[in-house]
Amino acid sequence: MSNYTGAVPETKRKKDWRDQAACRGTDNDAWFPNPTNAAGVQAAKAGCFACPVMIACAQYALTTRQADGVWGGLSEGQRSTLYKRHRTADFDNPSLVRTAVHRALRDELNPIHSYRDLWDARTYPLPDGHIGWKGASQNFTFHGSVYTPNQFAFLVDRGHKPVGIVRHTPECAVVECVNPRHIADNAERWQRKQAEERAAALDAAAEELAS
Ligand code: SF4
Ligand SMILES: [Zn+2]
Repeated sequence: MSNYTGAVPETKRKKDWRDQAACRGTDNDAWFPNPTNAAGVQAAKAGCFACPVMIACAQYALTTRQADGVWGGLSEGQRSTLYKRHRTADFDNPSLVRTAVHRALRDELNPIHSYRDLWDARTYPLPDGHIGWKGASQNFTFHGSVYTPNQFAFLVDRGHKPVGIVRHTPECAVVECVNPRHIADNAERWQRKQAEERAAALDAAAEELAS
């Protein structure tokens, strides 16, 4: 919300972004809806999106840590998230503010931004404990990296990227299954082979002792 009736009298301040504010002269309350009033917040944001000084307004609100209202297209919750991500001094940089605002608005339009969100959105249960992947089982890009569904399942479950190729274990023959327990990367296959060889050697030694 443009703050042109603030401490600096209108007649004495230099011209700045506030002179072009779309909300200038409008009902002040419209930019201070109750945060639980989703329709009110969206209406205020719509006004901001048509405002020629949206980024300058967002920068003002962020640098002065405005707690209430919609400013520069950002709700109270979105600014609060940005306060956690950045130091106040960071907002002196207009290009950082522009990127932060665009990111907040993009996240609002596309709420799938965490790995877990994507996992929940793309997977569905199959019989016998298998887990299916919705849509084409092709490579896709997420947060700048390219994954196959199996690579993504591995990353979400193990917390690190796979080594080499991710394949089904011998126990799972369901092509579209991405159950993390039914897949392994090169490192895990090698560990499994080592364990099987060790077990076989121990069995052979035990048999030899018994004979
Ligand atoms: S971005 Fe929104 S709150 Fe800021 S000046 Fe423009 S209309 Fe007013
Ligand atoms: Zn499976």
